[in-house]
Amino acid sequence: MNYRIALDGPSGAGKSTIAKRLSAELGFVYVDTGAMYRSIGLYCLQNGIDTSDKAAVTAALPQIDIQLKYVDGEQRVVLNGTDVSKEIRINEVSMAASKVSAYKAVRAFLLDTQRNMAKTQSVIMDGRDIGTVVLPDAEIKIFIVAAPEERAKRRYKELIERGQNVPFEEVLADIIQRDYNDENRAEAPLRQAEDAIRLDTSLLDFEQSYNAVLEIAKKRMAE
Ligand code: C5P
Repeated sequence: MNYRIALDGPSGAGKSTIAKRLSAELGFVYVDTGAMYRSIGLYCLQNGIDTSDKAAVTAALPQIDIQLKYVDGEQRVVLNGTDVSKEIRINEVSMAASKVSAYKAVRAFLLDTQRNMAKTQSVIMDGRDIGTVVLPDAEIKIFIVAAPEERAKRRYKELIERGQNVPFEEVLADIIQRDYNDENRAEAPLRQAEDAIRLDTSLLDFEQSYNAVLEIAKKRMAE
């Protein structure tokens, strides 16, 4: 039987790190839907398209091809034939992704690809609307949250490790802005599905968070 694990929650709650390890442990495919929104954001930045201009972003969609590839179990994102897995992680792209993800046409553009990936294989899909919109029938739904300051601290550390020197206050302000954008958009806003299990990782380290998610998943699969 194929399982679908929907992992949702705000930016920086640790979803992707947990999902990557869980996918390796369970042998499931990891689908990072945020990477798809980031690729559209990156395309706009590269082509001088104003991400606040809904009509311009919508008009650009037919020129965009996004493929997810798996190399040694790692997801790679290919935008119009170029591997952009690294570029999509920079801070400007986070904000661009947050903006374009509010547009209905952008979400519709990615929805089928996301659903199709879960049709023939067991997946762990991380995002904002997986349990509510993309895979409402997922067998396992987990909503991961953490205090904004805690998420900003983790994100800051990650950026510093990657050599990106961004002030902490800026990282925190970005997290708060992205939360606001995700929670208040009309299309597929960030919210917990009624049948999702909520996990607050504010006071947990990575191992503890990971083990809590693993336990929830294993328990559900044993039912
Ligand atoms: O998860 P990540 O931070 O990489 O996502 C980038 C942006 O894409 C988020 O800020 C969010 O606005 C958007 N997103 C979304 N729906 C998803 C995944 C990501 O709106 N399923």
